[in-house]
Amino acid sequence: MQHESTAPVVARSAIWDGRTPPKPGAAPDAPWQKLCPYCDAPLSKTEVFRPGHCAAAACGHRHILLLNYLAEEGRRAAYHADCEAAEPRQAARALAVKEGCEADDVVSVIVPYQNTAVVPLPGERRDAFLAHLAEAVVEAFEKEPVVGAVEVPPEAAAPLTIAGCSTCQGYCCKQGADRNAFLTAGELVEIRARRPDMDAKALIAFYEAALPEASVEGACVYQGPLGCVLSRDVRSSVCNTFHCRELIEAFARVGDMPGAPVTILARSDEGVEAIGAMGADKVWRLM
Ligand code: SF4
Ligand code: SF4
Ligand SMILES: [Zn+2]
Repeated sequence: MQHESTAPVVARSAIWDGRTPPKPGAAPDAPWQKLCPYCDAPLSKTEVFRPGHCAAAACGHRHILLLNYLAEEGRRAAYHADCEAAEPRQAARALAVKEGCEADDVVSVIVPYQNTAVVPLPGERRDAFLAHLAEAVVEAFEKEPVVGAVEVPPEAAAPLTIAGCSTCQGYCCKQGADRNAFLTAGELVEIRARRPDMDAKALIAFYEAALPEASVEGACVYQGPLGCVLSRDVRSSVCNTFHCRELIEAFARVGDMPGAPVTILARSDEGVEAIGAMGADKVWRLM
């Protein structure tokens, strides 16, 4: 589930100063060579600084990959440093007292946070969604049915997913607003395989009945006051597989200390807004 970046083969120093050190076997006092860090072509004075490579398309491509990798690495390092800052440590100490363990035995993670108002679903949004749904369901039933049930990925219901997303309150679900809960015809073919009892009419009626009276303003029609109102088996694969960058890193941290109690700090631009906890029993609760 984690998104691994491909480590670049070029030394980091080479990219920043546009130089490569003397080749192995060169005289000890050999001067630094101003070469493209990717293909060893000699660089002009300006190329050393900009673009930092020989300007061949292949080297440009590798340069972009390297810059992306370094940016990602920087974000990752910042995330893990934030998880060790004063506030997460304080939360870890509080949970350690409850769990009867040392604070160092608690893993702290950070997730996003949303707290937008829950309002009655506007009629025009409801109508637009139902019009989309009717079309998508008809299209789904015209497609070849999937043979056998399509399993919901286990990560979707992993305790850390539940704990992280519950503390966050569904920051990512606003993406489902303009995308009709990601319920495309292709998704509905899979969902149909999980609910073979329903024909097209029944499936439309099911989703219509599932619409909450009130939902998070401007977010997905199914994001109710307590999060998504749909059970996992009738959510799209996007909803069942998406993990934000923070949650991916949270899985990495918890994976390093499996079985450890976890504190989950939900953070907006204003700071920490909510703190969740998951003890040894793997049950999520707010602290
Ligand atoms: S995946 Fe990330 S943004 Fe989405 S609800 Fe979970 S913690 Fe929040
Ligand atoms: S269907 Fe549920 S999980 Fe998917 S975007 Fe909407 S509220 Fe979020
Ligand atoms: Zn080059």
